[in-house]
Amino acid sequence: MEGCKGNPSLDMTIFPFFIPHQGCEQRCVFCQQHRISGVPNAPTPAQVAQQLASILPPQSSGEVAFYGGSFTLLDVSLQRDYLACVTPFIQAGQVGGIRISTRPDACSPEVVARLKTGGVTTVELGCQSFSPEVLRLSQRGHGPHDARQSVLQLRNKGMRVGLQLMPGLPGGDFAEARYSLAQALSLRPDFLRIYPTVVLAGTALEQSWREGHYAPLTLEQAVDLCAELLWHCRNSGIPVIRLGLQSSHELDGEGAVVDGPYHPAFGQLVRSRLWRRALESAARSSGGRQVQVAFADLSDAHGHRRSNSDYLMRQFDSFEMVAADGVMRETFIMLGRNYDVMSQACYLQPLSTAADSMDDGAPAFIGSL
Ligand code: SF4
Repeated sequence: MEGCKGNPSLDMTIFPFFIPHQGCEQRCVFCQQHRISGVPNAPTPAQVAQQLASILPPQSSGEVAFYGGSFTLLDVSLQRDYLACVTPFIQAGQVGGIRISTRPDACSPEVVARLKTGGVTTVELGCQSFSPEVLRLSQRGHGPHDARQSVLQLRNKGMRVGLQLMPGLPGGDFAEARYSLAQALSLRPDFLRIYPTVVLAGTALEQSWREGHYAPLTLEQAVDLCAELLWHCRNSGIPVIRLGLQSSHELDGEGAVVDGPYHPAFGQLVRSRLWRRALESAARSSGGRQVQVAFADLSDAHGHRRSNSDYLMRQFDSFEMVAADGVMRETFIMLGRNYDVMSQACYLQPLSTAADSMDDGAPAFIGSL
């Protein structure tokens, strides 16, 4: 189960079921849902109902989620059966609603109406990129405009919308990632997930990589880029509920990840990079070499395996971090002055830098950023 933290309205428990590749009409070049989810086969609606009866608490406002496929492209009868098996638990107050994930081009008004009737409260759209060329090279089979249309349809029915982005896809670069994020933020989603592309065994991307046609972001590049993207999300007030693929037995197994920026603690690496930027900036401007942080932030401030501490020591010869009572989360005290991590880690380059070169002819949403 996954808790969506970072925004009070999203602070809910998720009861996930994986339906790997169900409904997918083609295979996107990067995708290997069996490995990502660790689930070989989709459960039947009867099995879902049986499991819900044993795992749901007496009362919950959480959501039952169907992840890992294109839910709205399943046979309509199967969609109805999956949704219907959750209905009794919603009526009993054991769960607040249903979450599904699907493709941006699979949310027509009729589909959205069916989801609404069936109790769906949140839809996650796998946008991955807003660059037409990146979507084409990734064999997504949809364009950027589909995501915009779907978000409008879902919003009209009062549903929460989450968007997924994948920096580092074929044809993508830092500029494309910034552009795609700008487009995603302009749609004001309820939350985002950001998964830097990794090369998984058994995918078409692995083949391209073996032939020398594709090179993923390095871990260092992905951490740097995602720190910048996360900063812009926080600055826009949009929660990021996941950074990087979730560690699992399958993903961590020998040969599952062929190349790319997979790390079981990727989210922490990214948060720590923002801490590093903030601490270095404050130390340079103030001359301070000792910092107090909240106990709960000490790990992110130090960085994975104390990488931030080592880095700051190299920069300044001496640097000390201590946890102290009364320091607010995501702030620190240096030479008696309070600093906010997000303000101090500021990125000056606007997200819209790359907008012109990637215009797909659709209405531009980028002006507000
Ligand atoms: S990325 Fe989504 S649409 Fe593409 S193959 Fe995977 S589950 Fe299906």
